[in-house]
Amino acid sequence: MKPARWPRTLASRLSLIFLVSLVIAHGLSFGLQFYERYQSAKTLMLGNLEQDLSTTVAVLERLPAEERKAWLPRFVHPNYRYQLDEGLPGTPLDMAAPPEFVRSMEATLGREYSLHYTQLADLRPHYQAHFRLHDGSPLTIDVRPSISPLSPWLPLVLVGQLLLLLGCTWLAVRTAIRPLTHLSRAVDTLDPNGGGTRLDESGPVEVAYAAVAFNTLQARIAAHVKERMQLLAAISHDLQTPITRMKLRAELMEDSLEKDKLWNDLSEMQHLVQEGVAYARSMDSATEVSRRIDVQAFLQSLVFDYLDTGKPVRLEMAGDAVLETRPHALRRLLVNLVDNALKYAEDVEIAVFRPSRGQLAIHVLDRGPGIPDDLLAEVLKPFYRLESSRNRDTGGTGLGLAISQQLALSLQGALVLHNREGGGLCAQLTLPAPVTEPVGN
Ligand code: ATP
Ligand code: MG
Repeated sequence: MKPARWPRTLASRLSLIFLVSLVIAHGLSFGLQFYERYQSAKTLMLGNLEQDLSTTVAVLERLPAEERKAWLPRFVHPNYRYQLDEGLPGTPLDMAAPPEFVRSMEATLGREYSLHYTQLADLRPHYQAHFRLHDGSPLTIDVRPSISPLSPWLPLVLVGQLLLLLGCTWLAVRTAIRPLTHLSRAVDTLDPNGGGTRLDESGPVEVAYAAVAFNTLQARIAAHVKERMQLLAAISHDLQTPITRMKLRAELMEDSLEKDKLWNDLSEMQHLVQEGVAYARSMDSATEVSRRIDVQAFLQSLVFDYLDTGKPVRLEMAGDAVLETRPHALRRLLVNLVDNALKYAEDVEIAVFRPSRGQLAIHVLDRGPGIPDDLLAEVLKPFYRLESSRNRDTGGTGLGLAISQQLALSLQGALVLHNREGGGLCAQLTLPAPVTEPVGN
């Protein structure tokens, strides 16, 4: 048999602990109360029985034999009654362990009369005590001991209590789990550039403390990243002027192989520096305002720009879509992806579709060599290139994909790379697209 598995979510574990312990505690206290009630009811009943037996038998003794029958209805009780006959035949009662009423009867009538007890076959326990009055006439006491029945409303109250327990457990678990869910969601969407969701700092002390700690952490990370980026931007920016100066000087040099080499090196440096500035800028999302764009027209113009320079880029898009986005950032992002694809493949395809409501996916597909699966995440990091083992002509700084990813994040989207079946790379950009009606109205 497989051992029972501990549920995986914290909510179900807490619910289980609360519910099981509360139900057990409740069941125990109900059981105790019920037992106590049963015991006191029994004691009371036996006490009454003893008193009643001696009076009733004394009254019957004093009544003339013909009048006794008329009096009998007055002596009827819920659990026992008197009969003026021999009673029903039954099996003699085992006197080694007699029911409780036998002791009461023996205590009250035993000294004066000789009683014998029988047990009758019945659904519920059913006994009879037989003896003879002083005038020789038979008397039978018919006993059907029964536990005091439960009040009809008691099960309803129990069900009510159980529902209350369920409700309270749910409330308690929710109160305990909700801040945790919020926290994990916030950690998930933590934006190192700032602008991530701030947690609500109100609520119970522990929760507020965690929220404050998280918000501070987020702010600190953002400040740290910003500082680094400013450093990168400043260095890159300040390098541009001396490089331009050096290029000017190189241009004044006499034509030679050395001059060409120097010129190439300087151009490479300039490219690197420009990319550095661009990367630093891509982290700063506040500069461009959002606009609604017609996705098809936007991508078509991008594709035309490539076709104009003789680069084979195709657009696959069924239907229209409208996007609320920052067009320059999106264009720069896509240009990076398409440029990469063009470096490694003959032709490139841009495919657009809606993976789900409220989302738009733009895929840049090529049939080039792809990227080894274990490096798919690495290449998104700044300055990471695979070129050392590849064609030197495809030189670059290794910032293109890092910039693209930053831009995707700043557009509230996500950039994922994966290798295609049959070879080639697919760069998937997913953007939030809540607007559905066409532009221009
Ligand atoms: P640049 O900063 O000029 O864009 P880069 O293109 O080398 O330089 P990234 O765009 O960041 O830098 O790309 C990182 C690496 O990922 C590239 O060096 C290349 O090895 C690999 N890569 C990117 N796109 C593709 C692709 N479509 N097919 C195969 N490899 C790719
Ligand atoms: Mg690139």
